[in-house]
Amino acid sequence: MSCPACLAICREVPKACASTGIVWATNFHAISPLVDFASHDQKNRWLPVIVNGGLAALALTEPSAGSDATGMKTTFREDEDEIVVNGPKIFITNGDVADIIVLFGKWAELGDGRDAISVAAIEKGAPGFEVIGTDKKMGSRASSTAALSFINCRIPRANLLGKPGEGLKMLYDFLRKSRPSVAAQALGIARAAFEDAIAYVNDCPAPLKSLRFEISLFSKRGDRRCGKAVSAKGRSLAS
Ligand SMILES: Cc1cc2nc3c(=O)[nH]c(=O)nc-3n(C[C@H](O)[C@H](O)[C@H](O)COP(=O)(O)OP(=O)(O)OC[C@H]3O[C@@H](n4cnc5c(N)ncnc54)[C@H](O)[C@@H]3O)c2cc1C
Repeated sequence: MSCPACLAICREVPKACASTGIVWATNFHAISPLVDFASHDQKNRWLPVIVNGGLAALALTEPSAGSDATGMKTTFREDEDEIVVNGPKIFITNGDVADIIVLFGKWAELGDGRDAISVAAIEKGAPGFEVIGTDKKMGSRASSTAALSFINCRIPRANLLGKPGEGLKMLYDFLRKSRPSVAAQALGIARAAFEDAIAYVNDCPAPLKSLRFEISLFSKRGDRRCGKAVSAKGRSLAS
């Protein structure tokens, strides 16, 4: 899907339901490292799960690594044909319900720097993986935001995307594609709120006339399309 098409969906869906928009956008962006960087075999394993209705999450943020995601402490330690994962993740959208989690950590043998960042996919039910809980939010409550724990979590080495230490480029690629959709969601929510406000003041009682006047001015100055929507109702807001 093209970037403009993705952004249009990210803007339009939250007009009806912000939570649904977040779930959809997270699922879409979480699979982008799989689509772009997974091997043929890995794609055959994971993408059908999503196509058949499964959900994906992407786990980057940690208690000590938010804006500076490269400060993550989660480690990937190689043990023969397995990887042992240790570390906490927080604020993970879909984290408690995802079938596949695209997980960022540092390859222990490469040290603690950003060049050690690596990416692996974790399947639901992996031993050592636990959902600690979900956050109680003020809004968008139908979209879960979970804290996850990985304690000696063992996954096949075949779950590593690319090579050890290739995660930084996947991280930037993910951020570059996903962050604009957050703005698109906010735009959709704001427009729906504005349109609801216009519908409300169109029907509001006489004492709120001055509010009608303010919104009418705002629609004409700031947003011609909203202004048209108002006048299409055949009523003069400023009267
Ligand atoms: C609802 C929700 C869903 C989320 N979903 C996911 C998800 O699915 N996967 C995932 O990995 N993460 C997710 N996150 C985490 C999100 O990406 C982080 O919250 C974000 O990266 C900011 O990190 P932080 O909360 O630790 O804030 P901090 O990094 O602690 O920042 C706090 C404040 O300080 C400011 N700040 C930070 N550093 C600097 C600086 N150097 N200079 C100036 N100002 C600075 C920030 O702008 C911010 O205002 C989610 C968060 C929320 C709230």
